[in-house]
Amino acid sequence: MTTTVFHGPPLEHTPPTNLTLPQFMLDVAHPLRPVRTTANPWFIDDQTGLNVNFEETRNRVYGLANALAARWRVSEGDVVCTFTPNDVDYPITMWAIHRLGAAVTPANPAYTADELVYQIQTSRASLLITCAGSLGIAEEAAKKAGLSRDKIIVFDVRGPAAANFKTSYPCIGQLIEEGLRSPPAFTEKVLAEGEGTRMIAYLCFSSGTTGKPKAVAIPHYSVISNVIQFASFNRIVDPKIPNEKRRFRPGDVTLGVLPMYHIYSIVVVLHCTLFCGHTIVVFPKFTLQEAIKSIIKYRISHLWIVPPVVVLLSKHQGLKKSDLASVRYVMVGAAPLSPEVARQFVKVLPADAAVGQGYGMTETSTVVCMQPLLVHHHIDGSAGRLISGTTVRVVGEDGKPKTYDEPGELHVKGPQTIYNSYLNNPKANAETFVDGWVRTGDEVIIKKNGDIFIVDRLKEILKVRGFQVAPAELEGLLLDHPAVADAGVVGIPDEYSGEVPAAFVQLQPDFAKRVKGNKKEEQKVKEAIAKHVAENKTRYKHLDGGVHFVDAVPKNPSGKILRRLLRDMAKERNLTG
Ligand code: AMP
Repeated sequence: MTTTVFHGPPLEHTPPTNLTLPQFMLDVAHPLRPVRTTANPWFIDDQTGLNVNFEETRNRVYGLANALAARWRVSEGDVVCTFTPNDVDYPITMWAIHRLGAAVTPANPAYTADELVYQIQTSRASLLITCAGSLGIAEEAAKKAGLSRDKIIVFDVRGPAAANFKTSYPCIGQLIEEGLRSPPAFTEKVLAEGEGTRMIAYLCFSSGTTGKPKAVAIPHYSVISNVIQFASFNRIVDPKIPNEKRRFRPGDVTLGVLPMYHIYSIVVVLHCTLFCGHTIVVFPKFTLQEAIKSIIKYRISHLWIVPPVVVLLSKHQGLKKSDLASVRYVMVGAAPLSPEVARQFVKVLPADAAVGQGYGMTETSTVVCMQPLLVHHHIDGSAGRLISGTTVRVVGEDGKPKTYDEPGELHVKGPQTIYNSYLNNPKANAETFVDGWVRTGDEVIIKKNGDIFIVDRLKEILKVRGFQVAPAELEGLLLDHPAVADAGVVGIPDEYSGEVPAAFVQLQPDFAKRVKGNKKEEQKVKEAIAKHVAENKTRYKHLDGGVHFVDAVPKNPSGKILRRLLRDMAKERNLTG
């Protein structure tokens, strides 16, 4: 019989449905969890060297939960928005919110006020946790979203700048102290069997296969499942694997540069690696120089990065092989990694460091496939093999299931996906979550050996340096500009960013007349349109692929933009970023 349903290895441990994430991470043992010594801390702040061990993490979670309950009555069903760069207190804050039964909606700290307003309103967040550097935008967004000033909390400033930072807003550190000193203001809920599949842990934003960004409701069970699937696939505690051969072991040190508001970082870095006994070196901001210094200083062994960082490392002139001597494993994800770039990268790594890709998406609570355990370098363009407990099918354009070597859209099913949905969005749910399968919008080929190759993206989204850009969001904004009658946005290739947004614009008749045969005027209008996007959207959404005038944006009879034609047009014009 022809194979049309593909399975990862069996999952030998059923994920618990009665635990929240902090209970799973901080309170209970698990057979797949290795024993870690108290000597290796959970978090190190890269800037100040501050260490936070297990006991401190657990206490800080409790203290903050207690203060949030006492002062703001945060409880089950509430949503709290976090709007801050990486910080050692970021995971602590998330778990404190979870202890109260509330959900976290983590926002990109580089957002403009309007982007943040959209997230606050769509997720119905009632409290905003930000930081000194993002406070101005947070205040503006809170006002527009109808959140009063007393609904804002800020992260502490660390290092030398701390002495100069004064604020009238409550700070996380102060709240933790207060919560630890005060009588209990909440009773932690014990979940009934099954409740963990419904209680939302995260509302992460993704535009899925089409349209504007949506809040993906990810229950505690989905994340816990992905951690167990990851641990099982990588045979973390398998006695048949000698300690020195293990991919992950207690005492390993993880690079914490991936932004903690994104699901890749939330699940893989903040939950999977900690579960495996790692210490996370937390970087508030990524710079290559600082990352290299810290890799040397903290003997960082595991890198979780996106393709642009691979390019930077591979091309870094001053990088010595000895700089990366501590590195043992690198997972590259969030966007495609070409075999050529990967081969360059291998040259700067120590011989015993393994490199491979991981693939997943917000809607699948991250990991669907990753580098197989027994393959040292997995760099021929494959995104990995299915992790334990994951089932997929490949559906062709004709709607029929495909077998090995036949391209089609990847549909995924597993404990990490089946309880996910878009918040308050039945239409998008009906399109993406179909009969228990998640439609990924990615075109793949599965090889006989189980390797999965992502060959194309069928959905609208662009991935700029690993960040999602929804064309519909930019098209809506472009239509607000007086010169624009219609617009279509697609990605064009860019060596560093992977791709960048380019806008194809049909001008309003009077503007079309103005620019006709007048290069200077044409340039002026293009610049004004690009500026309009730059003023309203965060940096990676800017039109670095340019503004291009067309007589009409190609559409099908029902008005859907024919993006393939726009992409062909970009190719004909040889457009690159
Ligand atoms: P996000 O929800 O932001 O994590 O974006 C998920 C999307 O990123 C996927 O549906 C893919 O289109 C893309 N993606 C993630 N990992 C990879 C990979 N290893 N190779 C190619 N595309 C990837």
